[in-house]
Amino acid sequence: MGPPKVGLCFGVSGIERCLNGQSPSHWVKLEVEPSFCNRLNKVHDRVIDPFGRSVTYLRLSVTDRCDLRCTYCMAEKMTFLPKQDLLTLEELDLLSTAFISKGIRKLRITGGEPLVRRDVLKLIDSLSRHLKSGALDELTLTTNGTQLKKHAARLAKAGVRRLNVSIDSLVPEKYARVTRGGELATVLDGIKAANDEGMRVKINAVALKQDNADELADMIGWAHGEGHDFTVIEAMPMGEIGEDRFDQYIPLSIVRETLESKWQLTPLAHRTGGPARYVRVEETGGQLGFITPLTHNFCEGCNRVRLTCTGQLYMCLGQEDNADLRAVMRSSDNPQEALYEAIDEAISRKPKGHDFVIDRPGSAPAVPRHMSVTGG
Ligand code: SAM
Ligand code: SF4
Repeated sequence: MGPPKVGLCFGVSGIERCLNGQSPSHWVKLEVEPSFCNRLNKVHDRVIDPFGRSVTYLRLSVTDRCDLRCTYCMAEKMTFLPKQDLLTLEELDLLSTAFISKGIRKLRITGGEPLVRRDVLKLIDSLSRHLKSGALDELTLTTNGTQLKKHAARLAKAGVRRLNVSIDSLVPEKYARVTRGGELATVLDGIKAANDEGMRVKINAVALKQDNADELADMIGWAHGEGHDFTVIEAMPMGEIGEDRFDQYIPLSIVRETLESKWQLTPLAHRTGGPARYVRVEETGGQLGFITPLTHNFCEGCNRVRLTCTGQLYMCLGQEDNADLRAVMRSSDNPQEALYEAIDEAISRKPKGHDFVIDRPGSAPAVPRHMSVTGG
């Protein structure tokens, strides 16, 4: 054996991850402090957090408002941010572009309901230049689908290839109850319009003990029959909703058991750097994802950060620590450079993971902000 080679291992936890992606057993591991990580990130056009995770995915919430009021997401009566607090579309573009320069390869526009933000299509059109230049691999959207029919053609033209659409029931009355007034047929028309424009649709559903736990198999069967992938999500304790999440929450371990009594689920290696784990349903041929932040968190592979419509950067969905990039951007003569520094500094604080738990009735949410603020 030759002399020991020196590799870099980021983080105080000693995760074996070296700059070139290899970690042979005879490498000498050097643990580095976040400040060193930060300095190293300055000379690379990418950001790596103290746990060795490369941050390549930004979720951008363009509004906290929504035309629905899903019972697990929002309270019936919500106070939204004053419109004058929102970043302008130009500022959202500048911020997104700074992240792309720092190595973000995938950008998801979300909210609230992103398609209710006035002129959001102008932002998406503008950001599509990063797809054309090759700086971005994917520009995508999570939507409730209510406005999709109207916007599908323009989204496709901007280079959006895939969309996530949230549907928690295929029974119109139940859908209306869960969303507090939504019309299922409108969303299904939106999905059809998206498909007609060549976009792939993935259906997201939050598993709800009382509302859809007994319907999920039918929903998955329908989605796969229509050619859509499907992801089930555990309800997360975010924000006050005027109901007890304990009454809504069902662990996906139980949902999975039920599905396994009906179908053969074959685990897939496919990963997105996110919290989902995927299986193929052999009987339908379709792909099914499980997002299990409560029963099994997969934070060790987390590659994402989230930016709110007021410019707060959250390094973790389930933690409160954030960086005010609006203040940085508005107070600097050279906003781009100032943003690069602020992004490096913020990501050097990315925590190891969240502490979500729903284990007894009446507990307060783990974080006070609603999912609609940070974008799901
Ligand atoms: N309005 C869009 C939609 O519904 O798809 C985008 C924003 S919404 C906050 C993004 C995703 O978060 C949706 O799939 C929604 O079901 C999910 N979501 C909202 N609140 C949640 C919660 N407390 N726990 C788990 N998922 C939640
Ligand atoms: Fe609106 Fe999406 Fe929240 Fe439902 S989940 S209330 S559609 S932001």
